[in-house]
Amino acid sequence: MTDSNRVIVVGAGPVGTVLALALRRQGIGVLLVEALAAPEKDCRAASCHPPTIKILERLGLLELGREQGLISPVMHFHDRPTGEVLGRFDFARMQDPPEHAYVLQWEQYKISGAILEMLKADPGCEVRMGTRLESYAEDADGVTITVTGPDGAREDLAGRYLVGCDGGRSTVRKLADIEFEGFTWPERFLKIDTRFDFSSLGDHIANRNYFADPDEWLNLFKARGEDGSGMWRAVGPTLPEQSEEELLDPAALEARLQKFCPRDEPYEIVTVALYKVHQRVAVTFNKSRVLLAGDAAHVNNPVGGMGMNGGIHDAMNLADKMAQIWFEGAAPEPLFERYTRQRRKGQLDGVQAQSIANKKTLAEKDPAVRAVNLDQIRQASADPAQHDAFIRRACMIDSFAAAEAVE
Ligand SMILES: Cc1cc2nc3c(=O)[nH]c(=O)nc-3n(C[C@H](O)[C@H](O)[C@H](O)COP(=O)(O)OP(=O)(O)OC[C@H]3O[C@@H](n4cnc5c(N)ncnc54)[C@H](O)[C@@H]3O)c2cc1C
Repeated sequence: MTDSNRVIVVGAGPVGTVLALALRRQGIGVLLVEALAAPEKDCRAASCHPPTIKILERLGLLELGREQGLISPVMHFHDRPTGEVLGRFDFARMQDPPEHAYVLQWEQYKISGAILEMLKADPGCEVRMGTRLESYAEDADGVTITVTGPDGAREDLAGRYLVGCDGGRSTVRKLADIEFEGFTWPERFLKIDTRFDFSSLGDHIANRNYFADPDEWLNLFKARGEDGSGMWRAVGPTLPEQSEEELLDPAALEARLQKFCPRDEPYEIVTVALYKVHQRVAVTFNKSRVLLAGDAAHVNNPVGGMGMNGGIHDAMNLADKMAQIWFEGAAPEPLFERYTRQRRKGQLDGVQAQSIANKKTLAEKDPAVRAVNLDQIRQASADPAQHDAFIRRACMIDSFAAAEAVE
């Protein structure tokens, strides 16, 4: 008979896998259910900020992350129309740097892929790939989920709690009838991955670059890539009236990159994706025996690279609370309520506020407001105290600490 004294985690993206591993490190049994047959190899998140690096270290993943990723202590802000580097933010210049004074560019598919292999080898974790959660029911003792397996057969599986780590369109959140408050930006974002090495243009290009532009702002980040030779990810806006066909046309993609950086050669474009972008936070992250973590609980625009980080912070916070319930006999409800209070604060005051401000700064069209914004970046880069505060905000150091301090 299956042991139902376990946590059911739905979704094996970066947040679900980190949560499953964190629970296992605490000695808690896990059932991990993932709709896909194998992890998705998309290149969405790549930036892990210092509080997240600390969590990776705690879970014994840091060495692997440093091997498979890139260490990026510097971030540049540019004015795209003039080519001026407005600000250079460098962890090495900080007066009071965090323990891990860099951003680790470790692609999310590598993180979840590596953890998934560990979980599959762990007898305390049952991993069900190609298995979709359809519905759940709960009673005083636990939760029973109904899934469709790879062969199309329905099955009931039991556990003590259910955590939805099933992404922005979360089935768990919808079944639990938890409202997802916020808004959707009118424009979609286009992501292009190319192998062209933008750092060959000069040392004004760092591994992490933001280009402010009232017409076409850009985020340009380097990741290590599948074979270690480097992959550059350019993310920018589109016009709401442009069709998907028009935007994804190879000639239009090439023209977009040539406009940013003209070259004689065509760009080698590896992958392209178009995203609808939302700023939404669930009104609660806990409801009875159901919890939410990661994109299932909150979504934000990718300027600043914070979505996955916030989800990993949820996962670690929740795993620690589960351990108190499992091994110390703590009452679940107050701990789950505190989980919601802490992590909603991390979202609302940190990730949501910062990612909205980042996007507005890059895209600002009003010349007077834009001039003030750009000047603030110049000043922050030049003044040591402002420089450090800028990094602490941008790299989630302050917002993570503020959320953890909530009672
Ligand atoms: C262009 C771009 C760049 C980004 N860059 C960054 C960055 O640098 N740093 C950062 O922190 N964030 C970044 N993000 C955000 C980041 O990608 C997300 O926050 C992250 O993927 C969330 O992880 P997750 O595990 O919560 O959800 P997901 O990655 O969406 O995983 C959810 C999983 O649940 C599974 N699932 C869904 N429904 C079911 C079901 N019913 N049953 C079973 N399984 C199910 C899905 O198949 C999927 O595997 C970026 C996003 C974009 C679009």
